[in-house]
Parts: sequence; structure tokens; C-alpha cells
Amino acid sequence: MTGSLPGFIDVVRNLNSPALLEDNVITQAKAAGKRMIFYGDETWVKLFPQHFVEYDGTTSFFVSDYTEVDDNVTRHLDKVLKRGDWDVLILHYLGLDHIGHISGPSSPLIGHKLSEMDNILMKIHTSLLSEERENLSPNLLVLCGDHGMSETGSHGASSMEEVNTPLILISSAFERKPGDIRHPKHVQQTDLAATLAIGLGLPIPENSVGSLLFPSIEGRPVREQLRFLHLNAVQLSKLLQENVPSYKKEPGFEQFKMAERLHGNWIRLYLEENTSEVLFNLGTKVRRQYLDALRTLSLSLSRQVAQF
Ligand SMILES: [Zn+2]
Repeated sequence: MTGSLPGFIDVVRNLNSPALLEDNVITQAKAAGKRMIFYGDETWVKLFPQHFVEYDGTTSFFVSDYTEVDDNVTRHLDKVLKRGDWDVLILHYLGLDHIGHISGPSSPLIGHKLSEMDNILMKIHTSLLSEERENLSPNLLVLCGDHGMSETGSHGASSMEEVNTPLILISSAFERKPGDIRHPKHVQQTDLAATLAIGLGLPIPENSVGSLLFPSIEGRPVREQLRFLHLNAVQLSKLLQENVPSYKKEPGFEQFKMAERLHGNWIRLYLEENTSEVLFNLGTKVRRQYLDALRTLSLSLSRQVAQF
């Protein structure tokens, strides 16, 4: 939710309070007046004590239970999906994690749990689609795990199985032609904060080192794409300035400055209502330049953090 890495967080500030004081998407959403509802792992309620208009926290203490922890979330679903008085709904299901701890990733309990989650996902998706037909503004459905699990069902170490987790974004706002099959790609968990912030029209959390996932804005007009990329690049280069004295010599910063200059040229042409191929080609070039800048900035900021 912060888009930052542990170590970047001002640990001292967080010592006396379990609440998350670092800038993050949830706090930004609350500041923007978004009405958020939360059901699930009570850690969220401790991290965000003032943020939810309604919540029901579930303790993760009883690892042997993988039924009630999830039923306690699902029991709210039918009712909340019918209500139109919220903007963000967060559900944190614990059952799958608990099964992992009890009997590992090959447990026969896993398949059953996954199909239970499948049905829940379908219920949410169907409900969002029918709601969209009424008020014509697209919803975003995000499915993710906070971690994977090892062969023994544990997590917290750095094996591939533990640090890899699925991330699925579903929205009718995304451009998708029939037969357009997207193969999964690896992205950084830190990219999610910037992506959600841009998607919800919120400021990107200031310590976020991620770069927004481009496919999420691909369907927007070029002018908007460039504006979103610019917002992210400004935020990352500000973070770079605050943390690297010689930031001007950083390749990412130079790429960003170049992208900004080209972007200025593109806007000038655009305002002249130039609709030629020149405008199109320049737009493509600016976009590529921003994406390169974001990649380099994000990488060097992540490395910077790792050195602490
Ligand atoms: Zn666990």
C-alpha cells in the first residue's frame, strides 16, 4: 500500500503505534473522501484504525482454523455488494494461508479452498458488472496474495515460491480485443501502490519506488497516458532527489528530463491540433522515453533502499 520497501520506512516513527504512518494508498483514499469497507485479517484494522467506514476484523491467531476465518468475511458479501454506499471494498481471506501452515501447498484442502475463492471472485465480478451497467463508470477488481508459500507451507524467507504471488487486475476500463490473450508477466509488488493510486485518481504515496503497470492505462487516450506517466516520473525523481545527492547524474533522472522535454513538444503539437503521423510518432516516442525513465528510476531507488 506504500509502494516502498522495508527499510525506507521511518521505523522510529512507527515504534509507538501499530498504525501505518507512512504515506500510503489507503490514507490517500481516505483523504480524498473515499468510503472504504474492510473485512478480514485484523492487521488491516490495526494499520488503519481510522480509515474504514465499516469493518470486521478476523484474528489470524488460530492458524488451525481455515473455515471460520473466511466465513467471517464471506458472510458480509451478499449484503455489501447490494449496497451503493462505498467506494473501496477490501477483503483479506486467511484460509488459504492457514491451510498452507497446517498441511502445505500440496494439501488436498487447497483445491477445495481455491474453488471456494473462485466462486467468491465470480460473485464479486458479476455484481460489479451489473452495477456498472447502471452507473456506467468502470470498476476495478484486484486479486492478489501478499506472499506465496514454500514446500512446507511456510513463508517469510526469500525462496521463489515464497516471494512469488499472483496479481490479477480486472476492469472493463482495460482495452482488450477479442482473442487478445495476455501471458502473465513478472512485476514488482511495489508497482501496485502507484498503479492503484493512478487508477483511483489519488496522489502516488511519496515513498513509493514502484512504476505504474502500463497495461492498466493502455486503453486511455495518449494525452492521459502521458500525464499519468509524468505524474509517476515526477514522484520518483523527487524521491531520488531526496535520497541521492548526485541525483542529476543518475541515468533515470536524465531520461526523465528528456521525456519531459519531448512531452512539452508533443503538447505543443497537440494544441495546434496537429493530427498527423508526426504527432502519433512523437507520442509513441515520449511514452517509450517515460517508460524507460520509470524503469531506471524505480530500479535505482530499489537498489538505494537495499543498501540501507
Ligand atoms: Zn502465514
